[in-house]
Amino acid sequence: MTMNNQGRPTAPGTVEESELPTISGDRGLDHEEPLIFELGRSGMTGVDIPEVQVSDTHLGGLRRRGPIGLPGLSEPEVVRHYVRLSRMNCAIDAGLYPLGSCTMKHNPRLNEKMARLPGFGDTHPLQPEQTVQGALQLISDLMRWLMVLTGMPAVAMSPKAGAHGELCGMLAIRAAIHARGETRPRILVPESAHGTNPATAAMAGFTVDEVPATPDGHVDADALEAKLGPDVAAIMLTNPNTCGLFEPRIKEMADAVHKAGAYFYCDGANFNAIAGRVRPGDLGVDAMHINLHKTFSTPHGGGGPGAGPVVLSAALAPFAPLPLITHDGSEFRFIEDRETLPHGAKPFGRMCAFHGQMGMFVRALTYMLSHGADGIRQASEDAVLSANYILASLKDVMSAPFGEGPCMHEALFDDSFLEGTGVTTLDFAKAMIDEGYHPMTMYFPLVVHGAMLIEPTESESKESVDRFIHVLREMALEAKAGKTTRFAGAPRLAPRRRLDETAAARKPILRWKPKELPQAAE
Ligand SMILES: *Cc1c(COP(=O)(O)O)cnc(C)c1O
Repeated sequence: MTMNNQGRPTAPGTVEESELPTISGDRGLDHEEPLIFELGRSGMTGVDIPEVQVSDTHLGGLRRRGPIGLPGLSEPEVVRHYVRLSRMNCAIDAGLYPLGSCTMKHNPRLNEKMARLPGFGDTHPLQPEQTVQGALQLISDLMRWLMVLTGMPAVAMSPKAGAHGELCGMLAIRAAIHARGETRPRILVPESAHGTNPATAAMAGFTVDEVPATPDGHVDADALEAKLGPDVAAIMLTNPNTCGLFEPRIKEMADAVHKAGAYFYCDGANFNAIAGRVRPGDLGVDAMHINLHKTFSTPHGGGGPGAGPVVLSAALAPFAPLPLITHDGSEFRFIEDRETLPHGAKPFGRMCAFHGQMGMFVRALTYMLSHGADGIRQASEDAVLSANYILASLKDVMSAPFGEGPCMHEALFDDSFLEGTGVTTLDFAKAMIDEGYHPMTMYFPLVVHGAMLIEPTESESKESVDRFIHVLREMALEAKAGKTTRFAGAPRLAPRRRLDETAAARKPILRWKPKELPQAAE
């Protein structure tokens, strides 16, 4: 057996050996894990629940007679089940996660510690305001940071994700237009936009009109200006855009939009490229959501909660949704209803039942305070530097449609370097899983063919980025040399290989039914 210089065995074994099926069905540390409902059995429980003496239940015929149908497992079985499942996932705590547009940065542990302080973690949204003054002050401080960083005079805190923030911004714009006695049905959206933009505009009752891109990856400002008219309510634009490029004509576009009586909604998902360097308010933005879970390091993915506060210009601020937060000199207070509105406030309604994602607010403010203003600027600069390093290091072997650079915080490649190899963007991305990496964003933005959008974020060390570049370089060189075995049917080493994603989307099976009791889960 060969050893490396630290004396660890390096021989991987022969192919036949590694493919020998195991008796258990598990593969080393990769466990074949059934659903918790399949694991559980009736009569087993992880806690002791005292017998309840049920006398008269008033339930009559509604009283349950059969088993409740919940899985019964001991505590160690439950712990193992979820630990095993967690190991099947790529995670930012397990490795570089270059998913473009998603800003998968490190979630500092300090954030978690702060969010668990009982004064933040154990509060209830219906508690009297006098008992949660600290929490309200934290929200107010976070609002101040967001307004200063964006150069905007108001912010709505309740939206619970980026897309929810887009809806908040669109509803504020609609209210502002109605207040002027106008109806403007059209929203201009660039063809490079994230899918949530046109979906949100449509959901808010507008029609969507697409603005083309120029060959160098920017929004075609001339085409945009030509489309402006008295029926246009707003543009929705991302800056830096989804090609990872700053829009150089943004101020000019904002001026033209305002001159036409329309508003400028900016998708702020890419704020991590410019936070601390550029204030969107200075660019003429009227509304912008900020994904706290992207730019400000609160966790996301896997269904975790996000938060999408929306900063508003002076023109839109009066239409901000309830609740508003005020300080009367001695106490913080939520304004929850129309009877107690401050002068000039015309809220369009509300976005959710309570006040937003408190846990995310604590994490985001912790991140801001631990970095300081200079640290936030440094993080943006490092994120941009990492992306440019990747672009410059790979553009000779992978094709970069806007490779003359510089890019902002993400590097965009297309699939022309794979032409004639039989390897597709999908194959290339799936082969990255075998190399221990989460794939980059694929086939988005739509303006380039077979897009691969890589966002390393500032969290990665140079060593980590170098290793990533090395792996992608070798993969690209192999594909181009006709060595395509590792791409066909990849991933080979993941718990599951290629799923039929179309069937999963078209014929989803959303409910588990026990085999022996087909009626029980109904
Ligand atoms: C992530 C993202 C969104 C949507 O944000 P969510 O928080 O996922 O709802 C919108 N636009 C762009 C460009 C994004 O990257």
